Amino acid sequence: SLSQPQDSGSAPIIRKKLNGYVGFANLPNQVHRKSVRKGFQFTAMVVGESGLGKSTLINTLFNTRLYPPKEPLPPSAERPQTAAIESISADIEENGVRLRLTVVDTPGFGDFVNNDESWKPIVENIESRFDSYLEQENRVNRQKIVDNRVHACLYFIQPTGHSLKPIDVEFMRQLHTKVNLIPVIAKADTLTDEEVAEFKARVLADIAHHNIHIFQAPTYENEDDEALAEAEEIAGKIPFAVVGSDRLVSTPDGRQVRGRAYPWGVVEVDNEDHCDFVKLRQMLVRTYMEELREHTNDTLYENWRTEKLLSMGVIQDSSVFKEINPAIRIQEERVMHEAKLAKMEAEMKMVFQQKVQEKEAKLKQSEEELYARHREMKEALEKQRLDLDDKKRRIESGRPLTPEKQTQKKGRFNIRG
Ligand code: GDP
Repeated sequence: SLSQPQDSGSAPIIRKKLNGYVGFANLPNQVHRKSVRKGFQFTAMVVGESGLGKSTLINTLFNTRLYPPKEPLPPSAERPQTAAIESISADIEENGVRLRLTVVDTPGFGDFVNNDESWKPIVENIESRFDSYLEQENRVNRQKIVDNRVHACLYFIQPTGHSLKPIDVEFMRQLHTKVNLIPVIAKADTLTDEEVAEFKARVLADIAHHNIHIFQAPTYENEDDEALAEAEEIAGKIPFAVVGSDRLVSTPDGRQVRGRAYPWGVVEVDNEDHCDFVKLRQMLVRTYMEELREHTNDTLYENWRTEKLLSMGVIQDSSVFKEINPAIRIQEERVMHEAKLAKMEAEMKMVFQQKVQEKEAKLKQSEEELYARHREMKEALEKQRLDLDDKKRRIESGRPLTPEKQTQKKGRFNIRG
């Protein structure tokens, strides 16, 4: 077995080979079974001027009559004055997997004379869904959280062939931090292939120019080539040029397809040579539905939540806390001041000890000098005494003094001190 310690923060991780069957290789199957039993929730929002084919495309995407065919409004009918937001839910099932699909429609968006703030009710709707999720998270009992957050927003661009309109730019700028934006070019069958290619390039340039973040399929380092190729192919089609139709039509070669019949031929919805519908479905449903949900939860909702809680005065991060709480700041300053004092004291002590040592050494030296002088004087006095004794003896015995002894006598009394 190979063992390889790894740095994982606290405890080292040792890699081991198993000697037999344990069973955790079955974990993905457990997750699979559980999630199939629980089912999935997905909420998509569609935004764009009326008549761009939003309802038709949703019906086409999920292959169901989610939206009943609309009665065209008679010219005399009163149009609503604001964009009313409606949502429709349906439980759909495919191969035993259940999906609770909710589509949020925004009829009326961009339909008014003044569309300056058409994005506002939509932003409010998205935020109120975040609010509701946050409120559920904060409940004492969080057993049954209903996730109504919008996981993807299909933004329908009118197939003008020119570039984005100010209302498109404004909408995307207001929304891109709150929802996964997926731009689509509506009714692409009204443009030729070249027109579509040129229009796409211009739309992408506009999006980049305005620093708008649209949803990008994530790619992971350890992914296989097939997955990478798929991600690249999907990314290459953005903004998806789509054609919607929930009707079957006959092709000249006798096939029944979902599509639109024209005098010059049939546009097939599910034919990748005709439009990007298949790639859009792959992005939204087959390949990245879970990524859309995850990105909504981990990034978009999380950022919104942090901002919201901070604005409400809830604080967690200690660095932020200090700025706001003066008691913490004063305490910290006192600790720093005390440390400075202690350092100064230690330095002074050191200097003092050094001075004491120097003084002691000097005193010792003077002491030794004094001893030496004392000894010298004592010796001199002793000698003087001996000389005097000698002199005394001579005088007593009647012998005269030698001249040499007389000079010595003079010098002796010149001893310092
Ligand atoms: P909504 O108001 O955006 O929901 O638009 P609808 O889905 O009600 O469609 C409005 C009209 O456009 C209907 O007559 C549709 O048949 C038609 N339509 C929908 N999708 C397409 C498309 O991809 N191409 C063309 N040419 N017409 C479409």
